[in-house]
Amino acid sequence: MNQLDVLIIGAGPSGCSAAVTLHQHGLRVAIVDKAEFPRDKCCGDGLTTSALRQLERMGFDPTTIPSFHVVQNTAWRSPSGFVSELPLPDEDGWRIAVAPRQELDNQLVEFVRAKGIRIHEAHALDSVDTSGRGVCVVAGDKTFHTRYVIAADGVWSPTRKLVSGTAESPYLGNIHAFRQYFKNVTGPAKDRLFVSFEPDLLPGYLWSFPLGDGRVNIGFGIERREGRSTQMMKQAWPDILSRPHIREELGPNAEPDLPHKAWPIPAEIKNELLTAANGKVFFVGDAARVVDPLTGEGIGQALETGHMAAMSIIEKGQRDPARAANHYRRYIRRGMAVDNSVAGAIAKLVRSERAARAVIRMTPHLNRFDHYAIRWVFEDNPRAAALTPWRWRERFGEQKTAAYVKLSTKARDAEVDL
Ligand SMILES: Cc1cc2nc3c(=O)[nH]c(=O)nc-3n(C[C@H](O)[C@H](O)[C@H](O)COP(=O)(O)OP(=O)(O)OC[C@H]3O[C@@H](n4cnc5c(N)ncnc54)[C@H](O)[C@@H]3O)c2cc1C
Repeated sequence: MNQLDVLIIGAGPSGCSAAVTLHQHGLRVAIVDKAEFPRDKCCGDGLTTSALRQLERMGFDPTTIPSFHVVQNTAWRSPSGFVSELPLPDEDGWRIAVAPRQELDNQLVEFVRAKGIRIHEAHALDSVDTSGRGVCVVAGDKTFHTRYVIAADGVWSPTRKLVSGTAESPYLGNIHAFRQYFKNVTGPAKDRLFVSFEPDLLPGYLWSFPLGDGRVNIGFGIERREGRSTQMMKQAWPDILSRPHIREELGPNAEPDLPHKAWPIPAEIKNELLTAANGKVFFVGDAARVVDPLTGEGIGQALETGHMAAMSIIEKGQRDPARAANHYRRYIRRGMAVDNSVAGAIAKLVRSERAARAVIRMTPHLNRFDHYAIRWVFEDNPRAAALTPWRWRERFGEQKTAAYVKLSTKARDAEVDL
């Protein structure tokens, strides 16, 4: 009964995206997740253009999410207090929206299930045996025999631990982020997306994303390094919230809605960590550590890698898992990895207050060119402009497709060393 082509571990965005693509192509697929939905996921809840585009590709309508909210105004504060207000172009589609993860992920699970795909909730992964021709997986009271496993099981990836079989210390991510919901927000943050480069958080930043009903998702991310613990983030939170410009942004009556949460962000793509077991196991989303190292955005990347792992299995994996794995790794290497390395270089630059100030000062000028700055941040423009335009050609109601595709021929061979 549990004989499958692909078993997906994890029903977050990356797992759901993979499941939809595999199912569309007639493969036998199922998902196991240790959680019961609706479940929360510590996140900023921001859906970039890339994430919206990927959801559109899946045929998922984000307006079915109860608190889905499209953002049209943004404000960027430099370490010196200079604020750059940048509107988001909306003439050809949405650029950024906010949707609480509890609701987004639950709607995605419902969407996947409505297609007839089995999702076994409350089934935590117990064991993975890759020694045979296929893979044997035990999760809760079920045993699955499958040709492939897609590990979409988040930053801690229990699949990786089981497959690698090493007793290495847990991977802790290279960014650590902290978020809390606030209600009764009456300040400008009620309607606009606010990002502040606080001097003590660089190259990290504080965000406030509006949910449209007087609630916001507010939090901050910092680079993980020696001496910066989650405990310190918790201690710093009251001080950060008491800063006059943040209080002003939220308004006098704003108060915490739910307790705060902290979670690591994995943003370091490594070729050898994308697949395992001679191509029988694929890692996607946070399990593949593909988050943008500058912005911490990972939902679009999760949806894209889920889809691409599935496509690699469909197109190249009928006979030889190694070929499918090569295809997937190459796709990441010449696309997302190139883009993330540019974002990572900028993250290094904004470590200094002066550079962060210069970057924010520059944004209104860059934005004069077809809203370039703002579209770059929200993953509507190629990160590595000359190298990866082909990755961005499925544009959200965009007319520039032809130019991007043309450029792409040159870009296809560009790869980065991982
Ligand atoms: C504080 C914070 C703010 C962020 N803000 C943003 C943002 O605004 N925009 C953005 O795009 N990205 C943001 N990100 C990144 C984003 O949250 C992740 O990149 C994204 O959730 C990755 O999706 P995923 O499907 O790979 O993993 P997840 O969403 O983590 O899903 C993994 C799934 O695997 C399941 N699982 C785990 N262990 C097991 C097991 N043993 N057995 C079975 N199932 C298991 C889990 O229950 C879960 O459902 C933020 C991250 C953090 C921490």
